[in-house]
Amino acid sequence: MNVYDARRMADLLINNGYEKANDVSEADILIFYTCNIRERAAQKLFSNIGILKNKNTKVIAVGGCVSQTEKENIFRHKDINISFGAQAYHRLPEHIGEILSGVKNRILDIEFDQTQKFNHLPERQNVSFSEFVTIQEGCDNFCTYCVVPYTRGREYSRSASDVINEVKSLLANGTKEITLIGQNVNSYHGEAPYISIGQPKGTWRLERLIREIAELDGLKRLRYTTSHPKDFTTELMQIHAETPVLVPFAHIPVQSGNDRILKAMNRGHTAQEYLDKIIKFRNICPNIQFSSDFIVGFPTETEEEFEDTVKLAEQVNYTISFSFKYSRRKNTPADKMPGQIPETIKAKRLAILQKTLINSQIYHNNALIGKTQEVLFERRGRKPNQYIGKNVYLQSVIVESQNNLIGEFRKVYIEKAGENSVMGKIVK
Ligand code: SF4
Repeated sequence: MNVYDARRMADLLINNGYEKANDVSEADILIFYTCNIRERAAQKLFSNIGILKNKNTKVIAVGGCVSQTEKENIFRHKDINISFGAQAYHRLPEHIGEILSGVKNRILDIEFDQTQKFNHLPERQNVSFSEFVTIQEGCDNFCTYCVVPYTRGREYSRSASDVINEVKSLLANGTKEITLIGQNVNSYHGEAPYISIGQPKGTWRLERLIREIAELDGLKRLRYTTSHPKDFTTELMQIHAETPVLVPFAHIPVQSGNDRILKAMNRGHTAQEYLDKIIKFRNICPNIQFSSDFIVGFPTETEEEFEDTVKLAEQVNYTISFSFKYSRRKNTPADKMPGQIPETIKAKRLAILQKTLINSQIYHNNALIGKTQEVLFERRGRKPNQYIGKNVYLQSVIVESQNNLIGEFRKVYIEKAGENSVMGKIVK
């Protein structure tokens, strides 16, 4: 989401007469857009300001979750002129103008008014073959470890017509792959675009939005992330089975495999309810594969409770996973819980879980050997003529080619598999 926001800020500023500097050393204005899902975000920000500030710098603006969390305290770093929240970046040109003209030398703008932002952003420019589109922001779930409801605000869905128009404009400019994004994307409930006579406009859920977007000309691949297990409907599973452009892949974070810990995390489901959805999904859409997020060492988690997480990971057999040690976030309920787990135990549990997750990853990579995969190439590899792309399951595929493949789809016959990627040859 920060990548998406940063692209929209760049478009906004270019639209207002600013130019992108060729190198950070030539920039008059430095904008830092932050995430504090990980630890020590403010310290990292301050140290990056120190490294990147130079004799040309006239304005330093800081945005995103660190601004939202630090509030006025952000100005303890004397070089910062503007601090803006994730919902306020449409006002950046105005704020930068006030600093450059000397009207103000400090601006704090961290209000949550999501309805405003998207109405003030220009059409997408400089689009890539693969683009994110924010459809929903904020979260009302209040998982006890998470800062998102406090930094991104309450849940807000963009109107369906706003989203569809943005996707259409991206496709018209050459985008092939779209990822619909939101903190809780499958709780999307945007205003419907059609008015039936005598009826209120009503709302569209993610399911309806996907059906509509999947029909648009030029779209080759559609993804969405991040979803919540409790909001995963049978209809959404069916859409995966019926819609060729929608990838047969779902990121469904589970976090823990133990019911007491899931309850303490306020996740709103049990381990069995999660597993039942996975089984149902596989029955409805046999080629579906999954990725997940895990947190180990949540306050009071016992060895047995942690083992439940490992068991669940084994049962599901995820293609890709993201696993972390629980880390305390100020002002969240879990930060105040007794029974915080020592770092050494968390590290030990993380290593055990990651071994299981990597075994699953290797299993899925090996399963591709001898198969042909459709790959969208994203970047060059380390070796000459090497290109790296992704298949529908987000597995990295490496090939050699004399031609530039970036932004191109190719069919690739997989010959070898490693831990983090597979290698193959382009099918002529
Ligand atoms: S659902 Fe996701 S974003 Fe929302 S509070 Fe829970 S972890 Fe945070």
